[in-house]
Amino acid sequence: MAGERKKITDDVACPCGSQSSYGSCCGPVHADGAGLGSTAEQLMRARYSAYVLHDGEFLLRSWHPDTRPATIGFDAEHIWRGLRIEATTGGGGLERTGTVEFRARFQHFGRNLELHELSRFERVGGSWLYVDGFDPDAGGAGRRQR
Ligand SMILES: [Zn+2]
Repeated sequence: MAGERKKITDDVACPCGSQSSYGSCCGPVHADGAGLGSTAEQLMRARYSAYVLHDGEFLLRSWHPDTRPATIGFDAEHIWRGLRIEATTGGGGLERTGTVEFRARFQHFGRNLELHELSRFERVGGSWLYVDGFDPDAGGAGRRQR
């Protein structure tokens, strides 16, 4: 797995598009994880920002051990362009499971594309972890997207 994490400072706009600064949005989640009191949506946003920043270490750390891949690579031609949260279920500060449905725009070799995913999250040892995701347009649960 090549490449290193892109540099970012706390004062810039957070890559997840929350309108907050990185230092008051996804930055603390990247540093400490999404622990007690945080929401599944916060982890979802932090994982999107981690894809933007090529932070493979965080992505693996926030992945459920049952579904976690061995490595993560980043495609330099895959450029994330924006995240929109569409819906959430559960995933509150004191809950154990949750889902987040989102659309993430990206460019690949200059083509504008969109990822539509319903992600499942589970709290393990106090912290939210990403379990897996499905394409809601493909007929709901049962078809694994990645
Ligand atoms: Zn953020």
